Amino acid sequence: MNSNEKQVEDVPIDHPRYLSLKHRHKIIEGLQNLVVTEAGLIAHGRGECFDYILGEKTNVFAKNAIEAAVALLLLAKKPIISVNGNSAALCAKELVKLSQYTKAPLEINLFYGKEGRIKAIQKLLKREGALEILGIEEDKMIEIKELSSNRRRVDPDGIYSADVVFVPLEDGDRTEALKKLGKKVIAIDLNPLSRTSIWADITIIDNIVRALPKMIKFSKEMRHKDQSFLTKILVKYNNQKTIQTALNFIIKYIKSQKRKAFEIVKN
Ligand code: ATP
Repeated sequence: MNSNEKQVEDVPIDHPRYLSLKHRHKIIEGLQNLVVTEAGLIAHGRGECFDYILGEKTNVFAKNAIEAAVALLLLAKKPIISVNGNSAALCAKELVKLSQYTKAPLEINLFYGKEGRIKAIQKLLKREGALEILGIEEDKMIEIKELSSNRRRVDPDGIYSADVVFVPLEDGDRTEALKKLGKKVIAIDLNPLSRTSIWADITIIDNIVRALPKMIKFSKEMRHKDQSFLTKILVKYNNQKTIQTALNFIIKYIKSQKRKAFEIVKN
C-alpha cells in the first residue's frame, strides 16, 4: 500500500466529506500513475467548488440531461466516448460499462501528451475490461485544423468520423471545434457557465462520479426501446433551459445555505 492508499484507508467512512476525499485521492493516485497531470488537479478543484454549490447531488435538470444524452448515444450512427486523464482516474470502470451498453467505443484524447500517459490510461481501461480503445496509434492519427492544442490529434475511426461525441470533462476549445465540424456533443461539466457547457448540445451539470452510474442505468433500460421512443426524449430536451435551471438552482441553494449558516451561528 502506498502513502496515498494509506491516506484513503485512514479517512473514516462517517467523515462528512468521505466521498469527496475518496475522489480526491483517486485523482492523486492518477497523478502518481501518470494518468492525471498537475493541471488535472486544479481542474478537479474547480469541479469540487461547483459541486458544493450544486448540493453535491444529481439534480432534476441533470437527470433529464442524462436521459437525453443516453437517447442521443443510442440513436447515433457512430458514437464515441472521449476519455481524458481525470475521467479515467475517477471512472474507468463506468466508462467501459457505458461503452459496452451504448456500443460507443472509447478514444483516449489528451490535452497534455506527456510521454507514457496514453499507455497508463490504456492500462487502466484494459484492467476494467475495455476491448477496443482508439486514439493509441500515433501514426494513424488525423489533425483537426479547427484546434491548435494537442487534442487536435484524433483517430480516423473514432472522433474524426463520429456523429455523436461524448466528452466527459472537456475544455471549451474542443467542444467548440467539434461543433464546428458538425458533430453532436454531450458533456459532463459541473460548471454551468463553462464554454463547454454553453457549446454542448447536451450538458450534464453533475459530478462525473454520480452521472456515469446513472447513464449506465438508463442505457441498460433504454437500449431495447425503439427509435421513436428515443427521439421523443430528445425532441423534448432543451439545453439552454438546463443551464438556466442549474443557475437558478445555484442562486436558490446559496441563499438557503446562507440562512442555515446564520442559524448555526445563532444557536
Ligand atoms: P471551459 O474551457 O469549458 O470554459 P475550463 O477552462 O474551466 O472550462 P477545464 O479547466 O479544461 O475547463 O476543465 C475543468 C472543467 O471540468 C471545469 O469546468 C470543472 O467544473 C469540470 N469538472 C472538474 N471535475 C469534475 C467532475 N468530477 N465532474 C464534472 N465536472 C468536473
